[in-house]
Amino acid sequence: MEKVKITVAKGDGIGPEIMDATLDIILAAGARIEPEFITVGEEIYKKGITTGIPPEAWEVIRKNKVFLKAPITTPQGGGYKSLNVTIRKALGLYANVRPARSYHPFVPSKYPEMDVVVIRENEEDLYSGIEYQMSPQNIYALKVITYPGSERIIRFAFEYAKLYGRKSVTAMTKDNILKMTDGLFHKIFEKIGEEYPDIEKGHWIIDIGMAKLATKPEWFDVVVFPNLYGDIASDMVVEMTGSVGLGGSANIGDEYAMFEAVHGSAPKHAGKNEANPSGLLNAAIMMLVYIGQGDVAEKVENAWLKTLEDRIFTYDLARRAKEFGITDFTQVGTREFAQAVIDRLGQKPQHLKPASYASAGRFPKIKVTLTGGKDMVLKGVDIYIKAPGISAEDLGKKLEGLSTGALKFVILANRGQKVYPADYPGVFTTDHFSARFEGEPGKVTNDDIKELLRRIEEEGLEWTNVEKLYYIDGERAYTLAQGQ
Ligand code: NAD
Repeated sequence: MEKVKITVAKGDGIGPEIMDATLDIILAAGARIEPEFITVGEEIYKKGITTGIPPEAWEVIRKNKVFLKAPITTPQGGGYKSLNVTIRKALGLYANVRPARSYHPFVPSKYPEMDVVVIRENEEDLYSGIEYQMSPQNIYALKVITYPGSERIIRFAFEYAKLYGRKSVTAMTKDNILKMTDGLFHKIFEKIGEEYPDIEKGHWIIDIGMAKLATKPEWFDVVVFPNLYGDIASDMVVEMTGSVGLGGSANIGDEYAMFEAVHGSAPKHAGKNEANPSGLLNAAIMMLVYIGQGDVAEKVENAWLKTLEDRIFTYDLARRAKEFGITDFTQVGTREFAQAVIDRLGQKPQHLKPASYASAGRFPKIKVTLTGGKDMVLKGVDIYIKAPGISAEDLGKKLEGLSTGALKFVILANRGQKVYPADYPGVFTTDHFSARFEGEPGKVTNDDIKELLRRIEEEGLEWTNVEKLYYIDGERAYTLAQGQ
């Protein structure tokens, strides 16, 4: 059978050791792959390439489409871009998949029943990286949640659940506060969920949801998150399994995929033959499934599970065992651990649930079908104004007088809170306000907004940005200020 070319980066710190161990194991298991090595990370950053990826490495990554990457070290100091974020965005790797399973009692865990898969949206949300300083005192970050981005990840989560025989999909958002952005994610979750009658569905508000995930992980199965919450949850659940060194992660897009360990390059353990290669191995197992070599993936995972059952442990798991008063383990180095897994190829675990993957490529391919609203009608405008040293009342009164024929002053807000007309006098304000002007939907024009901006400038006020207020398909498409 023809070998699949994959791009491999050995990374920094413990990267080369755990990559060698991982490749040794999967090749011994018969992986039909041909690794093509590239150099990314510290060495490249130090050459002054701020992304950490040289052009020739990009070529290889794009050509092979499947990328197995060891952790890299991001040098301290400004100017360096996160290599992971760059790769995810450039390759459209919208879905991050992190299984977190308990291997109790072999790897002792406080959560013996845990078997969770965190699916995190990888491109949007506060990770849009769009941040602005609008005044000496105010900085804003844009949380971007889109229809296609949300649909894609939510469908992915349901399709993943279907493919892997998982019984429930849960979403977590903060839509009691973020009514529009997280509200959209939740709404799409409910809508898409209807297409999967055989899968149980649940939605939790993120605060209590995370509290339950941290204390009752056995209640959860597949959990889908917008980017930021997913980032936090995915590290948390892996740590809960016993060691961050166990977790693997898949980043999946329509055309490309990248597989890596959850943890970083752990420089203080580098070159000592002591790091746990299991995280990268678990990533490589997902990669094998992705490229349609489920048979090899199964063989590797079962041998690895048997190694854990035999309590052959790298230092991190050995330390964990001692914490639980367990002494019947054998502590080994990275290479010896890999050899122990190789020695068990062909064996199955006797207690832990064995792996079972069909031989076809088992990661969902997603088609987006929903469209957002169509009919956008202009209703008004929020004009942000930098105004240091002026009271809300004085500013509000001034702006009130600037209403035009089509746009009437409604409220003045500061940090999202209505401050004029004031319901509670003395509310703290910073130097950046937003003034809301509204008119009849459909009757407000861009020229009305320009006229208003002209009047504001004439008053000697500095406007910094303008947000148009719309009705979309007959519904208000902006939030009311607190107190409005
Ligand atoms: P880290 O995950 O590298 O290490 C934290 C600690 O976790 C280590 O000191 C070690 O005790 C333990 N640990 C991690 N991996 C282990 C393993 N395989 N076996 C045993 N123990 C393990 O986190 P950090 O120290 O915050 O970051 C180090 C560097 O890694 C930084 O430069 C950071 O930017 C980078 N990083 C890279 C990635 C990536 O490439 N995907 C991810 C996270 C951090």
